[in-house]
Amino acid sequence: RRERYAGLRDKPCVTRDGVRIDLQMNAGLLVDLPQLAEAGAEGIGLFRTELQFMVASTMPRASDQQRLYTAVLDAAGDKPVTFRTLDVGGDKLLPYLAQLQEENPALGYRAVRLALDRPGLMRTQLRALMKAAAGRELRIMFPMITDAAELRAARELVDLERAHLHRFGHESPKAVKIGAMIEVPGLLYQLDEVMALLDFASVGSNDLFQFFNAVDRGNPRVANRFSDLSPAFLRALKDIVDAGHRHDVPVTLCGEMAGRPIATMALVAIGFRSISMAPPSIGPVKSMLLELDVGAVRAIVERHLASQAPMADLKAELADFARAG
Ligand code: PEP
Ligand code: MG
Repeated sequence: RRERYAGLRDKPCVTRDGVRIDLQMNAGLLVDLPQLAEAGAEGIGLFRTELQFMVASTMPRASDQQRLYTAVLDAAGDKPVTFRTLDVGGDKLLPYLAQLQEENPALGYRAVRLALDRPGLMRTQLRALMKAAAGRELRIMFPMITDAAELRAARELVDLERAHLHRFGHESPKAVKIGAMIEVPGLLYQLDEVMALLDFASVGSNDLFQFFNAVDRGNPRVANRFSDLSPAFLRALKDIVDAGHRHDVPVTLCGEMAGRPIATMALVAIGFRSISMAPPSIGPVKSMLLELDVGAVRAIVERHLASQAPMADLKAELADFARAG
């Protein structure tokens, strides 16, 4: 089976009815990089920069950060890399960063909330990213954005850093593209304002699912109680894709559901054309997509979404469809 997937590595991911799907991988450390070639990913759709901070016993220096980002960009070559700014706080605690004990860490002082209050931390990281990407394209993505004002504040820090580098005569990135994770459900009601501020967006379906259903993603007793193929959740995802189309903003999805072939069928059916997943999932997902008739699966999923009595188990239906194909 592994050999079969290796044989698909260099094959473009185009469905049976000619729909091109961009398959990217998630990464966070240098050791992940060989997977880019091995798995045949078309880029790094999510680089979790907090991992460098989590494996260190002291705050990584600016030079350490820059060195990692340079190595990642060098390894990726022409393939795009999306760097997510520090997503710490909540359950991702850094022992050397004084953080409060919170009763609800998932809903607490985390990610961009913390970074915007401590601009030194964020600006150091942005500077390291920009220096690493001198002369190349830089894609920066902000996690846990909750409203347009936060996104504006984060963008301002990028502009400040760009001006700073320019003032000190450093070469700038060739282009800086700004993205946001869509993982706080409140954003679904500000999609037009938020999309207008973005070059790209990426759905963090792990957190979006957690907050959407009010179930702790790490607590199997409740996390498995609801399906990410429920009509409600798929409608939410489709609203995001549709908003991306309205604003000409590319939308991808980088949560764990992107790595499950059956879930991916539903994602492609509602309009996703780019997804990012753990490298070992790329082979199985690609193998499924190459055989997929998107038009046919779209009909199944649309029926599910429009019906007054949605299919009790879309997952079983899609699995049957996959087997029949
Ligand atoms: C997500 O929330 O779906 C995501 C990709 O980010 P993380 O799992 O790191 O929170
Ligand atoms: Mg997340």
